[in-house]
Amino acid sequence: MKENMASLMAKDAEVLLHPASSITALLANGPDMITSAKGSTVTDANGRELLDAVGGLWCVNVGYGRKELADAMQQAAQQISYYHTFSNASNPWQVALAEKLLSKAPEQMTKIFFGSSGSDANDTIIKLVWHYFALKGQHSKTKMIAREQGYHGTSISTASLTGLGGFHKEFPLPLDFVLRTECPHFYTRGKAGETEEQFCDRLIDEVAQLIEREGAENIGAFFAEPIHAAGGVIEPPKGYYPKLQSLLKANDILLVADEVVCGYGRLGKWFGSQVLDIKPDFMATAKGLTSGYFPMSAVFMTQDIWEVMKLGSEKLGAFSHGYTYSGHPIGAAVALANLEIIEKEGLVELAGETGRYLHEQLQAEIGDHPHVAEIRGRGLIAGVQLVANKASKLLPDPAEKWPLKVANACREAGVIVRPLPSVGTIAISPPLVITREEVDQLVSVLKQAIDSVTFGN
Ligand SMILES: *Cc1c(COP(=O)(O)O)cnc(C)c1O
Repeated sequence: MKENMASLMAKDAEVLLHPASSITALLANGPDMITSAKGSTVTDANGRELLDAVGGLWCVNVGYGRKELADAMQQAAQQISYYHTFSNASNPWQVALAEKLLSKAPEQMTKIFFGSSGSDANDTIIKLVWHYFALKGQHSKTKMIAREQGYHGTSISTASLTGLGGFHKEFPLPLDFVLRTECPHFYTRGKAGETEEQFCDRLIDEVAQLIEREGAENIGAFFAEPIHAAGGVIEPPKGYYPKLQSLLKANDILLVADEVVCGYGRLGKWFGSQVLDIKPDFMATAKGLTSGYFPMSAVFMTQDIWEVMKLGSEKLGAFSHGYTYSGHPIGAAVALANLEIIEKEGLVELAGETGRYLHEQLQAEIGDHPHVAEIRGRGLIAGVQLVANKASKLLPDPAEKWPLKVANACREAGVIVRPLPSVGTIAISPPLVITREEVDQLVSVLKQAIDSVTFGN
């Protein structure tokens, strides 16, 4: 390692507070410094190449090192640098991008609002739901339903939606506008003797009772990731979304699909809603929108929402919400180049095909492992559920830190996977361009890591 790099690594803990990180671990081990990246591979400060089977934070859909994205970024930076979009200011890039996004989205989506992160996309949606109902005279429809194990961001409001206790600890969160409902995970939440269908009906019934208890007139929306990502790569039981959707509709409660991970091809279609038969009123997207190259989010909304806001505008004047970086021309240029690559290289279809291969290989290699309970997900997202005892469905003791140890063992062997300690799961969410050879490498390394950690050798 070069001397200046060693000195930067030594200084890291002196000058930085890292997001979602342990200060104790940083002081003990130093930072995990990554210095370059290409395709599905990142290189650390020691020059060691690592297969990144998480695509950064579930986001580098087109892979690292795409010249087209760097060129688009440079071109827009040189031509305009920045201009805002408040007060109906605009730029050509955001218009072209919105048009492109709508052409891929579920047909009911007709308008786009841009921001900079998944958290701000969900924040925006909360406010739009409030605003929409207020404009219709239903001012009390302010509560939001969100699920256990859901992840919707870390801002004050979205950390409140997030159903992972770690994000609330020693904060006065969640705020009380959030109503919590059960995580739709049959393996961990199904009762003894219950079929998956009965489990599904119980979940829907629980939501129905929650609505009854709180009053539909007090509830604005239900937030759902099509497949929970950070909360364990959990897909609800078959039939869940259509049943949920009709229940919500009957109570005039909007459905928000948080597509921040599922969007932009990961599940084998452009959006998770198209895979899982969801007809949302809003979609939040970010991550894969620019493959992580630029911080950008896009909120999709229906014509109905917009029509109500249009009428409201005549009374209220400006819609008073937005960000300095909403519709950023450089971000929009990068997103356009990113979507062009996804289209030109057929990455949505490829994600479906490579995803099938990934799931087949995982099943074949570790499906019968005594400490693997189930392999979840579809397309290029997978969650490997570790289990202490398969017969009794006993989950690993958190104190044993199996997910972290498995991830560390993979890392030693040159592969990055993501431990999800709250559910004893290993997550995989690679760039959509991951090759079959790389999938083979990933699966074989993961199998050895699980063997060595769970058999304790
Ligand atoms: C990452 C993520 C978010 C938050 O996005 P940020 O850009 O980190 O604010 C929201 N929802 C889901 C499903 C995510 O995975």
